[in-house]
Amino acid sequence: MELSAFEVVKKQIDVVSEEMGLDPNLTKYLKRVERALIVTIPIKMDDGSLEIFEGYRVHHSTVRGPGKGGIRYSPEVNLDEVKALATWMTWKCSLLNLPLGGAKGGVCVDPRKLNKNELERLTRRYTSEIINIIGPDIDIPAPDVNTNAQVMAWIMDTYSMNKGRSVPGVVTGKPIEIGGSVGREPATGMGLYFVLEAMCEKLNLEMNSHTIVIQGFGNVGGTIADLLYKEGCKVMAVSDISGGLYYFEGLEIDKLLEWTKEGNDLKDYKDERYELITNDELLSIECNVLIPAALENQITRKNANSIKCEIILEGANGPVTPEADKILFDKGIHVVPDILANGGGVCVSYFEYVQDIRAYFWELDRINKELKKIILSAFEEVYKVSRERNISLRTAAYIIAVSRIAKAIEWRGIFP
Ligand code: GLU
Repeated sequence: MELSAFEVVKKQIDVVSEEMGLDPNLTKYLKRVERALIVTIPIKMDDGSLEIFEGYRVHHSTVRGPGKGGIRYSPEVNLDEVKALATWMTWKCSLLNLPLGGAKGGVCVDPRKLNKNELERLTRRYTSEIINIIGPDIDIPAPDVNTNAQVMAWIMDTYSMNKGRSVPGVVTGKPIEIGGSVGREPATGMGLYFVLEAMCEKLNLEMNSHTIVIQGFGNVGGTIADLLYKEGCKVMAVSDISGGLYYFEGLEIDKLLEWTKEGNDLKDYKDERYELITNDELLSIECNVLIPAALENQITRKNANSIKCEIILEGANGPVTPEADKILFDKGIHVVPDILANGGGVCVSYFEYVQDIRAYFWELDRINKELKKIILSAFEEVYKVSRERNISLRTAAYIIAVSRIAKAIEWRGIFP
Protein backbone atom coordinates (compact mmCIF):
# COMPACT_ATOMS: atom_id res chain seq x y z
CA MET A 1 0.00 0.00 0.00
CA GLU A 2 1.28 3.51 -0.83
CA LEU A 3 1.95 5.77 2.15
CA SER A 4 -0.13 8.91 2.65
CA ALA A 5 1.70 12.22 2.16
CA PHE A 6 2.11 12.84 5.90
CA GLU A 7 3.32 9.27 6.42
CA VAL A 8 5.95 10.00 3.77
CA VAL A 9 6.93 13.12 5.72
CA LYS A 10 7.35 11.13 8.94
CA LYS A 11 9.42 8.53 7.12
CA GLN A 12 11.68 11.26 5.70
CA ILE A 13 12.11 12.66 9.24
CA ASP A 14 13.15 9.17 10.45
CA VAL A 15 15.68 8.79 7.63
CA VAL A 16 17.30 12.15 8.33
CA SER A 17 17.16 11.74 12.13
CA GLU A 18 19.07 8.49 11.84
CA GLU A 19 21.66 9.99 9.49
CA MET A 20 22.14 12.96 11.85
CA GLY A 21 21.90 11.03 15.11
CA LEU A 22 19.18 13.45 16.20
CA ASP A 23 17.84 13.41 19.77
CA PRO A 24 14.72 11.13 19.66
CA ASN A 25 12.73 13.80 21.52
CA LEU A 26 13.40 16.23 18.69
CA THR A 27 12.42 13.63 16.11
CA LYS A 28 9.13 13.22 17.95
CA TYR A 29 8.66 16.99 18.12
CA LEU A 30 9.27 17.49 14.39
CA LYS A 31 6.67 14.88 13.43
CA ARG A 32 3.80 16.89 14.85
CA VAL A 33 2.19 20.06 13.51
CA GLU A 34 1.70 23.08 15.80
CA ARG A 35 -1.93 23.61 14.87
CA ALA A 36 -4.45 22.50 12.25
CA LEU A 37 -7.73 24.25 11.63
CA ILE A 38 -10.57 22.53 9.76
CA VAL A 39 -13.36 24.80 8.55
CA THR A 40 -16.52 24.30 6.56
CA ILE A 41 -17.40 26.79 3.88
CA PRO A 42 -21.07 27.08 2.93
CA ILE A 43 -21.54 28.74 -0.46
CA LYS A 44 -24.72 29.87 -2.17
CA MET A 45 -24.23 28.74 -5.75
CA ASP A 46 -25.55 30.84 -8.62
CA ASP A 47 -28.28 28.26 -9.36
CA GLY A 48 -29.72 28.82 -5.86
CA SER A 49 -28.38 25.57 -4.34
CA LEU A 50 -26.15 25.44 -1.27
CA GLU A 51 -22.79 23.66 -1.36
CA ILE A 52 -20.57 22.95 1.64
CA PHE A 53 -16.81 22.73 1.11
CA GLU A 54 -14.14 21.75 3.63
CA GLY A 55 -11.00 23.86 4.07
CA TYR A 56 -7.80 23.62 6.11
CA ARG A 57 -4.93 25.76 7.33
CA VAL A 58 -2.04 24.09 9.10
CA HIS A 59 1.01 25.53 10.87
CA HIS A 60 3.76 22.95 11.09
CA SER A 61 6.36 25.20 12.71
CA THR A 62 6.65 28.87 13.53
CA VAL A 63 9.80 28.41 15.56
CA ARG A 64 11.95 30.43 13.09
CA GLY A 65 9.32 33.00 12.13
CA PRO A 66 5.71 33.38 10.95
CA GLY A 67 4.23 30.47 9.01
CA LYS A 68 4.57 30.62 5.22
CA GLY A 69 3.02 28.52 2.49
CA GLY A 70 0.45 28.35 -0.25
CA ILE A 71 -3.23 27.58 -0.44
CA ARG A 72 -4.41 24.98 -2.95
CA TYR A 73 -7.84 24.33 -4.39
CA SER A 74 -8.27 20.72 -5.45
CA PRO A 75 -10.79 17.90 -5.06
CA GLU A 76 -7.99 15.73 -3.65
CA VAL A 77 -7.02 18.06 -0.79
CA ASN A 78 -7.35 16.61 2.72
CA LEU A 79 -5.92 17.32 6.15
CA ASP A 80 -3.17 14.70 5.84
CA GLU A 81 -1.91 16.24 2.60
CA VAL A 82 -1.98 19.79 4.00
CA LYS A 83 -0.02 18.67 7.08
CA ALA A 84 2.63 17.16 4.79
CA LEU A 85 2.81 20.26 2.63
CA ALA A 86 3.09 22.51 5.71
CA THR A 87 6.02 20.43 6.99
CA TRP A 88 7.83 20.64 3.64
CA MET A 89 7.45 24.44 3.83
CA THR A 90 9.23 24.40 7.21
CA TRP A 91 12.19 22.58 5.67
CA LYS A 92 12.15 24.75 2.54
CA CYS A 93 12.22 28.07 4.42
CA SER A 94 14.89 26.74 6.76
CA LEU A 95 17.07 25.42 3.94
CA LEU A 96 16.95 28.82 2.21
CA ASN A 97 17.62 30.39 5.62
CA LEU A 98 14.53 32.63 5.43
CA PRO A 99 13.19 33.87 8.78
CA LEU A 100 9.90 32.04 8.21
CA GLY A 101 8.20 28.86 9.36
CA GLY A 102 6.10 26.32 7.49
CA ALA A 103 2.35 26.42 6.85
CA LYS A 104 -0.11 25.37 4.16
CA GLY A 105 -3.79 25.58 3.38
CA GLY A 106 -6.29 24.04 1.06
CA VAL A 107 -9.92 23.77 0.12
CA CYS A 108 -11.39 20.50 -1.11
CA VAL A 109 -13.06 21.79 -4.27
CA ASP A 110 -12.79 21.37 -8.03
CA PRO A 111 -12.38 25.02 -9.03
CA ARG A 112 -13.20 24.18 -12.65
CA LYS A 113 -16.78 23.56 -11.56
CA LEU A 114 -17.22 27.04 -10.00
CA ASN A 115 -17.71 30.29 -11.87
CA LYS A 116 -15.77 33.43 -10.93
CA ASN A 117 -18.42 34.77 -8.53
CA GLU A 118 -18.71 31.46 -6.70
CA LEU A 119 -14.92 31.20 -6.49
CA GLU A 120 -14.77 34.69 -4.99
CA ARG A 121 -17.40 33.85 -2.37
CA LEU A 122 -15.58 30.61 -1.54
CA THR A 123 -12.27 32.44 -1.13
CA ARG A 124 -13.75 35.22 1.02
CA ARG A 125 -15.60 32.81 3.32
CA TYR A 126 -12.52 30.57 3.65
CA THR A 127 -10.45 33.65 4.56
CA SER A 128 -13.00 34.73 7.18
CA GLU A 129 -12.91 31.25 8.70
CA ILE A 130 -9.10 31.21 9.06
CA ILE A 131 -8.73 34.93 9.83
CA ASN A 132 -7.54 34.41 13.40
CA ILE A 133 -4.55 32.33 12.44
CA ILE A 134 -3.26 34.32 9.46
CA GLY A 135 -1.62 37.77 9.36
CA PRO A 136 1.74 39.35 8.51
CA ASP A 137 3.28 38.27 11.81
CA ILE A 138 1.44 34.93 12.21
CA ASP A 139 1.15 33.15 8.89
CA ILE A 140 1.32 34.50 5.34
CA PRO A 141 -0.46 32.45 2.62
CA ALA A 142 0.49 32.44 -1.08
CA PRO A 143 -0.63 30.79 -4.33
CA ASP A 144 -0.31 27.05 -4.88
CA VAL A 145 -2.08 24.51 -7.12
CA ASN A 146 -5.13 26.16 -8.77
CA THR A 147 -4.84 29.49 -6.93
CA ASN A 148 -3.39 32.69 -8.38
CA ALA A 149 -2.94 36.45 -7.95
CA GLN A 150 -6.71 37.05 -8.18
CA VAL A 151 -7.39 34.63 -5.32
CA MET A 152 -4.65 36.35 -3.26
CA ALA A 153 -6.26 39.74 -3.97
CA TRP A 154 -9.62 38.48 -2.59
CA ILE A 155 -7.87 37.13 0.52
CA MET A 156 -6.02 40.41 1.04
CA ASP A 157 -9.22 42.41 0.60
CA THR A 158 -11.30 40.21 2.94
CA TYR A 159 -8.62 40.35 5.63
CA SER A 160 -8.24 44.12 5.19
CA MET A 161 -12.01 44.79 5.33
CA ASN A 162 -12.20 42.86 8.60
CA LYS A 163 -9.28 44.80 10.10
CA GLY A 164 -10.55 48.16 8.87
CA ARG A 165 -7.30 48.99 7.05
CA SER A 166 -5.34 47.69 4.08
CA VAL A 167 -2.95 44.92 5.08
CA PRO A 168 -0.99 43.99 1.93
CA GLY A 169 1.50 41.86 3.92
CA VAL A 170 -1.11 39.22 4.79
CA VAL A 171 -0.49 37.28 1.56
CA THR A 172 2.17 37.11 -1.14
CA GLY A 173 1.74 36.43 -4.83
CA LYS A 174 -0.65 39.39 -5.07
CA PRO A 175 -1.18 41.52 -8.17
CA ILE A 176 1.54 44.18 -8.45
CA GLU A 177 -1.04 46.99 -8.21
CA ILE A 178 -1.89 46.08 -4.60
CA GLY A 179 1.56 45.38 -3.19
CA GLY A 180 2.68 42.35 -5.17
CA SER A 181 6.27 41.94 -6.27
CA VAL A 182 7.69 41.95 -9.76
CA GLY A 183 9.16 38.56 -10.54
CA ARG A 184 6.96 36.62 -8.10
CA GLU A 185 4.87 34.84 -10.71
CA PRO A 186 7.74 33.19 -12.62
CA ALA A 187 9.89 32.85 -9.46
CA THR A 188 9.49 29.09 -8.91
CA GLY A 189 10.39 28.41 -12.55
CA MET A 190 13.34 30.83 -12.36
CA GLY A 191 14.61 29.07 -9.24
CA LEU A 192 14.34 25.69 -10.99
CA TYR A 193 16.35 27.10 -13.86
CA PHE A 194 19.16 28.46 -11.65
CA VAL A 195 19.41 25.17 -9.75
CA LEU A 196 19.43 23.08 -12.94
CA GLU A 197 22.16 25.28 -14.39
CA ALA A 198 24.27 24.78 -11.25
CA MET A 199 23.64 21.03 -11.24
CA CYS A 200 24.65 20.72 -14.91
CA GLU A 201 27.85 22.58 -14.17
CA LYS A 202 28.71 20.10 -11.41
CA LEU A 203 28.02 17.17 -13.72
CA ASN A 204 29.81 18.76 -16.70
CA LEU A 205 26.66 18.71 -18.84
CA GLU A 206 25.78 21.24 -21.53
CA MET A 207 22.43 22.72 -20.55
CA ASN A 208 21.24 23.72 -24.04
CA SER A 209 21.66 20.27 -25.56
CA HIS A 210 19.33 18.64 -23.06
CA THR A 211 16.18 16.68 -23.70
CA ILE A 212 13.50 17.57 -21.17
CA VAL A 213 10.23 15.99 -20.02
CA ILE A 214 7.85 17.97 -17.80
CA GLN A 215 4.82 16.73 -15.88
CA GLY A 216 2.53 19.71 -15.21
CA PHE A 217 2.03 22.80 -17.34
CA GLY A 218 0.75 25.34 -14.82
CA ASN A 219 2.67 28.23 -13.31
CA VAL A 220 5.70 26.08 -12.44
CA GLY A 221 5.81 23.59 -15.34
CA GLY A 222 4.86 26.25 -17.89
CA THR A 223 7.55 28.71 -16.77
CA ILE A 224 10.40 26.20 -16.69
CA ALA A 225 9.27 24.76 -20.06
CA ASP A 226 9.39 28.27 -21.52
CA LEU A 227 12.83 29.09 -20.06
CA LEU A 228 14.39 25.82 -21.25
CA TYR A 229 12.75 26.04 -24.68
CA LYS A 230 14.21 29.54 -25.11
CA GLU A 231 17.57 28.20 -23.98
CA GLY A 232 17.48 25.76 -26.90
CA CYS A 233 16.63 22.56 -25.03
CA LYS A 234 14.36 19.99 -26.63
CA VAL A 235 11.22 19.83 -24.47
CA MET A 236 9.98 16.46 -25.70
CA ALA A 237 6.88 16.06 -23.53
CA VAL A 238 4.59 18.09 -21.28
CA SER A 239 1.29 17.26 -19.62
CA ASP A 240 -1.60 18.78 -17.71
CA ILE A 241 -4.55 17.20 -15.94
CA SER A 242 -6.07 16.20 -19.32
CA GLY A 243 -3.01 14.22 -20.48
CA GLY A 244 0.28 14.80 -22.25
CA LEU A 245 1.83 15.58 -25.62
CA TYR A 246 5.02 13.97 -26.92
CA TYR A 247 7.28 14.72 -29.88
CA PHE A 248 10.85 13.40 -29.87
CA GLU A 249 12.08 16.38 -31.94
CA GLY A 250 10.78 18.81 -29.30
CA LEU A 251 7.41 20.52 -28.81
CA GLU A 252 6.76 24.16 -29.74
CA ILE A 253 6.35 25.40 -26.19
CA ASP A 254 5.49 29.01 -27.10
CA LYS A 255 2.42 27.84 -29.05
CA LEU A 256 1.36 25.41 -26.32
CA LEU A 257 1.58 28.15 -23.71
CA GLU A 258 -0.64 30.41 -25.81
CA TRP A 259 -3.11 27.54 -26.15
CA THR A 260 -3.33 26.73 -22.44
CA LYS A 261 -3.39 30.41 -21.39
CA GLU A 262 -6.70 30.67 -23.26
CA GLY A 263 -8.07 27.99 -20.91
CA ASN A 264 -7.68 25.04 -23.31
CA ASP A 265 -6.55 21.52 -22.38
CA LEU A 266 -3.31 20.16 -23.84
CA LYS A 267 -5.08 17.05 -25.13
CA ASP A 268 -7.18 19.17 -27.52
CA TYR A 269 -4.13 20.81 -29.16
CA LYS A 270 -3.92 19.84 -32.81
CA ASP A 271 -0.57 19.06 -34.40
CA GLU A 272 -0.26 15.80 -36.28
CA ARG A 273 3.39 15.37 -35.29
CA TYR A 274 2.46 15.24 -31.60
CA GLU A 275 1.46 12.01 -29.90
CA LEU A 276 -1.11 11.98 -27.10
CA ILE A 277 0.24 10.21 -24.01
CA THR A 278 -0.92 9.59 -20.45
CA ASN A 279 0.77 11.11 -17.41
CA ASP A 280 2.15 7.65 -16.56
CA GLU A 281 3.66 7.15 -20.01
CA LEU A 282 5.26 10.58 -19.78
CA LEU A 283 7.25 9.63 -16.70
CA SER A 284 9.02 6.74 -18.42
CA ILE A 285 10.24 8.66 -21.50
CA GLU A 286 14.02 8.55 -21.89
CA CYS A 287 15.46 12.04 -21.44
CA ASN A 288 18.23 14.00 -19.71
CA VAL A 289 16.05 15.91 -17.27
CA LEU A 290 12.66 14.89 -15.91
CA ILE A 291 10.74 17.65 -14.13
CA PRO A 292 7.70 16.51 -12.13
CA ALA A 293 5.87 19.81 -11.62
CA ALA A 294 2.35 18.68 -10.77
CA LEU A 295 1.42 16.86 -7.56
CA GLU A 296 2.99 14.70 -4.85
CA ASN A 297 3.43 10.89 -4.96
CA GLN A 298 4.00 10.60 -8.72
CA ILE A 299 7.21 8.57 -8.75
CA THR A 300 6.70 5.60 -6.46
CA ARG A 301 8.24 2.14 -5.98
CA LYS A 302 5.87 0.96 -8.75
CA ASN A 303 7.26 3.13 -11.56
CA ALA A 304 10.71 4.19 -10.24
CA ASN A 305 12.42 1.37 -12.13
CA SER A 306 11.06 2.58 -15.45
CA ILE A 307 12.47 6.12 -15.06
CA LYS A 308 15.17 6.79 -17.67
CA CYS A 309 16.84 10.15 -17.05
CA GLU A 310 19.99 11.63 -15.54
CA ILE A 311 18.42 14.34 -13.38
CA ILE A 312 15.04 14.65 -11.70
CA LEU A 313 14.29 18.26 -10.83
CA GLU A 314 11.38 18.42 -8.40
CA GLY A 315 9.14 21.32 -9.39
CA ALA A 316 6.23 19.90 -7.37
CA ASN A 317 6.28 19.28 -3.64
CA GLY A 318 6.81 15.62 -2.73
CA PRO A 319 6.61 14.03 -6.21
CA VAL A 320 9.01 11.17 -5.27
CA THR A 321 8.22 8.76 -2.42
CA PRO A 322 10.96 7.49 -0.04
CA GLU A 323 10.90 3.97 -1.57
CA ALA A 324 11.30 5.46 -5.04
CA ASP A 325 14.10 7.67 -3.74
CA LYS A 326 16.14 4.60 -2.78
CA ILE A 327 15.62 2.97 -6.18
CA LEU A 328 16.62 6.17 -8.01
CA PHE A 329 19.70 6.66 -5.83
CA ASP A 330 20.84 3.10 -6.60
CA LYS A 331 20.27 3.72 -10.30
CA GLY A 332 22.58 6.76 -10.07
CA ILE A 333 19.85 9.27 -10.96
CA HIS A 334 20.42 12.70 -9.40
CA VAL A 335 17.22 13.84 -7.67
CA VAL A 336 17.27 17.57 -6.92
CA PRO A 337 14.78 17.74 -4.04
CA ASP A 338 11.69 19.94 -3.92
CA ILE A 339 12.74 21.97 -0.89
CA LEU A 340 15.76 23.15 -2.85
CA ALA A 341 14.65 23.03 -6.50
CA ASN A 342 11.28 24.77 -6.15
CA GLY A 343 12.34 27.19 -3.40
CA GLY A 344 12.33 30.17 -5.80
CA GLY A 345 8.62 30.79 -5.20
CA VAL A 346 8.80 31.18 -1.46
CA CYS A 347 12.06 33.07 -1.76
CA VAL A 348 10.47 35.83 -3.85
CA SER A 349 7.40 35.62 -1.58
CA TYR A 350 9.77 36.56 1.22
CA PHE A 351 11.00 39.53 -0.84
CA GLU A 352 7.36 40.56 -1.42
CA TYR A 353 6.63 40.37 2.30
CA VAL A 354 9.70 42.48 3.12
CA GLN A 355 8.73 45.04 0.45
CA ASP A 356 5.16 45.25 1.82
CA ILE A 357 6.34 45.81 5.38
CA ARG A 358 8.76 48.54 4.26
CA ALA A 359 6.42 49.94 1.59
CA TYR A 360 9.45 50.18 -0.65
CA PHE A 361 9.54 48.19 -3.87
CA TRP A 362 12.48 46.66 -5.70
CA GLU A 363 13.22 46.34 -9.40
CA LEU A 364 13.17 43.02 -11.25
CA ASP A 365 16.91 42.97 -11.61
CA ARG A 366 17.39 43.09 -7.84
CA ILE A 367 14.73 40.39 -7.29
CA ASN A 368 16.39 37.95 -9.69
CA LYS A 369 19.91 38.69 -8.42
CA GLU A 370 18.94 38.13 -4.79
CA LEU A 371 16.92 35.03 -5.68
CA LYS A 372 19.89 33.58 -7.53
CA LYS A 373 22.21 34.34 -4.63
CA ILE A 374 20.00 32.68 -2.01
CA ILE A 375 19.06 29.58 -4.02
CA LEU A 376 22.59 28.95 -5.29
CA SER A 377 24.12 29.30 -1.86
CA ALA A 378 21.61 26.67 -0.61
CA PHE A 379 22.48 24.50 -3.62
CA GLU A 380 26.23 24.69 -2.91
CA GLU A 381 25.70 23.77 0.72
CA VAL A 382 23.48 20.81 -0.17
CA TYR A 383 25.84 19.57 -2.86
CA LYS A 384 28.82 19.75 -0.52
CA VAL A 385 27.11 17.82 2.29
CA SER A 386 25.85 15.18 -0.15
CA ARG A 387 29.38 14.64 -1.51
CA GLU A 388 31.05 14.64 1.89
CA ARG A 389 28.69 12.06 3.33
CA ASN A 390 27.91 10.18 0.10
CA ILE A 391 24.18 10.67 0.63
CA SER A 392 21.38 11.81 -1.67
CA LEU A 393 20.83 15.51 -2.29
CA ARG A 394 17.50 15.14 -0.47
CA THR A 395 19.01 13.74 2.71
CA ALA A 396 21.71 16.44 2.57
CA ALA A 397 19.09 19.18 2.16
CA TYR A 398 17.09 17.76 5.06
CA ILE A 399 20.15 17.59 7.31
CA ILE A 400 20.81 21.30 6.75
CA ALA A 401 17.15 22.31 7.12
CA VAL A 402 16.44 20.14 10.16
CA SER A 403 19.67 21.21 11.92
CA ARG A 404 18.59 24.84 11.79
CA ILE A 405 15.15 24.02 13.17
CA ALA A 406 16.64 21.79 15.87
CA LYS A 407 18.98 24.60 16.95
CA ALA A 408 16.08 27.06 17.09
CA ILE A 409 14.05 24.64 19.23
CA GLU A 410 17.02 24.11 21.53
CA TRP A 411 17.48 27.86 22.04
CA ARG A 412 13.81 28.53 22.63
CA GLY A 413 13.15 25.39 24.72
CA ILE A 414 9.80 23.67 25.10
CA PHE A 415 7.14 25.84 26.71
CA PRO A 416 6.33 25.93 29.63
N1 GLU B 1 3.21 27.32 -2.91
C1 GLU B 1 4.59 27.60 -3.06
C2 GLU B 1 5.45 26.51 -2.46
O1 GLU B 1 5.01 25.40 -2.27
C3 GLU B 1 4.95 29.01 -2.58
C4 GLU B 1 4.70 29.26 -1.13
C5 GLU B 1 4.91 30.72 -0.72
O2 GLU B 1 5.30 31.51 -1.54
O3 GLU B 1 4.64 31.00 0.44
O4 GLU B 1 6.60 26.68 -2.21
